[in-house]
Amino acid sequence: MKFMINFNKLIKVFPYRYIMSNELFQAGIPYTIEKSKNMEPYWDALKSGKFQTTECTKCDEIHYPPSPIMCPKCYNTVMNWTEIPLEGSIITYTFVTSPPEGFFTHYSLVSVMMDKLEKPILGRFIGDKIDIGNRVKIEFHTIDDTILMVFTNIN
Ligand SMILES: [Zn+2]
Repeated sequence: MKFMINFNKLIKVFPYRYIMSNELFQAGIPYTIEKSKNMEPYWDALKSGKFQTTECTKCDEIHYPPSPIMCPKCYNTVMNWTEIPLEGSIITYTFVTSPPEGFFTHYSLVSVMMDKLEKPILGRFIGDKIDIGNRVKIEFHTIDDTILMVFTNIN
């Protein structure tokens, strides 16, 4: 049975916060953040090896993906950018061994509960010890002229 992704539907569900490209999907990256003026602090941080996202000045909620225009929890419109430590713990994972048509790599995806963020992030895993509870860290890889966050083991 083939697993098909409806890209148009995904883009409608995530209208402005995500970008997707065939190159990224083929590399096993499920999504990344849109390159827009509002998201510049996110991309600038990645260039210097840091991960930052938005924090609401009213309710202190930290959002990922970044939500620089409005807090999705309390609708406040004043956000700060805050740095997130690069480490977290795997809460679940999967091996993609039968990629959908057009995808040529086999890869692992992990859902990681990031320290401080206290929300899981889905990302590609490149490492040798994958298990629930394992500590992992973010590494920055450049694919298709885009800096991306990839998870790997903490040695
Ligand atoms: Zn808020």
